[in-house]
This record gives sequence, structure tokens and C-alpha cells, in this order.
Amino acid sequence: MFKNNVDFLIIGQGIAGSLLAWQLLQFGASVIVIDDNHTEAASLVAAGMINPISGKRMVPIKKFNHFYNEACNTYRQLESELCAPYFNEMSVIRIIQSNAEARYFNKYKNCSEFTQFLKKVNQPGLNPKLINDPFGSFTLSPAAYVNTSRLVIDLGKYLDKKNLRLTCRFQYDELKFESHKIIWKDWVAKSIIFCEGYRGCNNPWFKSLPFKPAKGELLTLETDTALLHGTILNCGKWLLPLSKHHCLAGSTFSWNPLNHQPSEEGKNEILNTLHSFTYFNFKVLNHVAGIRPTMENSHPRIEQHRNFPTIAIFNGLGTKGALIAPYYARVLASNLMQMINFNKKIYIS
Ligand SMILES: Cc1cc2nc3c(=O)[nH]c(=O)nc-3n(C[C@H](O)[C@H](O)[C@H](O)COP(=O)(O)OP(=O)(O)OC[C@H]3O[C@@H](n4cnc5c(N)ncnc54)[C@H](O)[C@@H]3O)c2cc1C
Repeated sequence: MFKNNVDFLIIGQGIAGSLLAWQLLQFGASVIVIDDNHTEAASLVAAGMINPISGKRMVPIKKFNHFYNEACNTYRQLESELCAPYFNEMSVIRIIQSNAEARYFNKYKNCSEFTQFLKKVNQPGLNPKLINDPFGSFTLSPAAYVNTSRLVIDLGKYLDKKNLRLTCRFQYDELKFESHKIIWKDWVAKSIIFCEGYRGCNNPWFKSLPFKPAKGELLTLETDTALLHGTILNCGKWLLPLSKHHCLAGSTFSWNPLNHQPSEEGKNEILNTLHSFTYFNFKVLNHVAGIRPTMENSHPRIEQHRNFPTIAIFNGLGTKGALIAPYYARVLASNLMQMINFNKKIYIS
């Protein structure tokens, strides 16, 4: 039977599969991307926020500048290639929630990992029309908003134009192995890379990875007061302005039930926290839920299978897909080229 040859098959076209395909094409490789029309893509739900310091414990993200510079370059390059805006630089106002948090902040604010992102310490009453901040706040930058959903949709269209995307559900038992090649339906490939998001936890070749997918919910709001342009407000939950009177607000974390249904509890959890640190009124325009591809230790997993070197995985982007996907996609693409051309092993530190 006639077979089509290709260097790489990529399963899944979220931000991971999209950027990997893009980078491999830049290296001159041939790729086919298989996706089931984004039925469960976290990248289409994500807020796409990049924040250098997050969480209750205010821990700066390791190697943030390194990831950020790569993200900035990649998204800018895609903006110019696809003629659409994806990357928006912002700052974050982190509102201090309590005396205990103020003490915590005072203890850490002079550490060098923290000060590089700390632009200003703000006294209470920074913006009395908008923000309730009795314990004060501080301003962080750089930060950004990446429109991951638009980027993934546009890259899908780009792949379609070049006949490089197949819309169907990939089944594991359709894959056959021969020495140094992979056979799937009418295709023969040198390697297959799984970028399936949280559904990677069902992948029979990577079952031993510590998947711990987490559901998240997000709201789109219309506000009666003009928002601060280019400024994310964060106080346990966050609010990200999209325009003068529209913003995203989120998000929640839950593990049971793990589904894509927006819930009343999720909505109320976000709204109650927003009410505690804002003074304006808002109307809910949209409410979505998705499942983050998170790992037990929060580390991404980008590796080759031990016994089947033609198979690799790009997963575990967790809560930081917008920040870290560009760097890992480029490094993985470069490793994959070395693998098919010089039989080298994939090694990503
Ligand atoms: C509510 C919420 C808010 C978030 N906010 C942020 C944020 O502010 N900043 C941030 O950086 N990250 C955020 N994230 C996390 C972000 O969404 C992820 O890090 C990122 O999108 C993961 O991308 P991915 O490509 O690995 O997976 P996905 O985007 O899930 O893509 C996987 C793709 O593979 C397809 N697929 C899977 N299996 C198959 C198969 N067998 N056959 C065919 N196709 C298949 C799926 O349909 C999907 O299209 C958020 C997530 C959620 C849910």
C-alpha cells in the first residue's frame, strides 16, 4: 500500500503541539499534526497570563527572565508571520491580603530574586475608585497576556493551508513500530511526539509519569468602571483587562470532579474574592472550564521513551504554558532534529 513519508507526527495541537510544529518547520523538517478539533484543549480556555511571582507564598519563578525573553521573541515572530496580535506586555498590582501577608512581603521584598521584579511598593488607597487595599500593594513587571486561544486557532489555519493538519482522534492501537520508524494509517514517520495536554495521562507509553491534571474555571466580565489599562490586579484571584470595560477573571483549582463543566461553586469562588478587593460592579458575560496538564511536582515533562526512542512526549505545562512553551518547543525541536539526523538522544535539562 502507498505510504506518505514525514519526519514527525505530532499528536495534539494546543500551545505545545502548535509551537513544536512551528519550530520544526523553521528547522526545515516535515510534520503532520493530528488534533480532534480541540475538543478538550486547555489552550483555548487559558487566560494566557504570565506573572513573575505567583501563589500565596509569592515565590519568583525560576529562570523567569530566560523563559520570558524566549516567549517574547517567539510570540513577536509569530505576530509578524501571522499578522495578528498575541503578546501584550503588562504589569501586575499584587494587593496584600492581610497583616500576615504584609509581614511575609516585608521579609522577602529585599531578596534579589524578588527585587528584580518589584517596581513599586504602594501605600493603601492606590486607586480608591477601583481597589480595596487596606494593607497596600506592590507593582511587578515584566508580566504579559498571551492570547493563546487565538494563536492556536491561527496556527491551525496556517497548518491547514499547507495541508499539514489532520482533524481526527488519534487512537493508540493504530500505531505500529518498525525499526527506526513509526507507521500510522497511511503515514510513515521517523518519530511521533505526544502533545495531548491532560489526556496524556491515558497514554500507554507514558503511564508512569506523575500526571495530576487540575480543573480550572474562568469568567469574562463587563465592568461599570474603566479598568486600569495594561494592569493585572491580583489578590488571590486576578483580573486581567482585555479592554476598558472587559476583563478575564479567575481562576479556580479543583481535582474532583475533573470535567469541563463550568460550576456555580467555581463562579462564586471567583466573584466572592473579586468583591473583596474591588469597588466596581460587573456582569458575567462568559464562564468556561478546562483541565490543565499538570504534574505532581509541577515540572514539565519533555522526554523520549526509554525503550521506544522514536516516541517522545511534550507535556506538563501546568499553569505556565504561555511562559514556558516557547522555550521548550524550540529546544525539543532542536533535539528532535539531532535525533533523526545523527541518532542523538533527546536531552532537555
Ligand atoms: C481555566 C484555565 C486558566 C489557565 N490560565 C493560564 C494562564 O493564565 N497562563 C498560563 O500560562 N496557562 C494557563 N492555563 C494553563 C494552560 O492552558 C496550559 O498550560 C496549556 O494550554 C497546555 O497546553 P497543551 O498544548 O499542553 O495542552 P492542550 O491545550 O490541552 O492541547 C492538547 C490538544 O491535544 C488534543 N488531543 C489530545 N488527545 C488527542 C487525540 N488522541 N487525538 C487528537 N487530538 C488529541 C486536544 O483536543 C487538544 O487540542 C490555564 C488553564 C486553565 C484550564
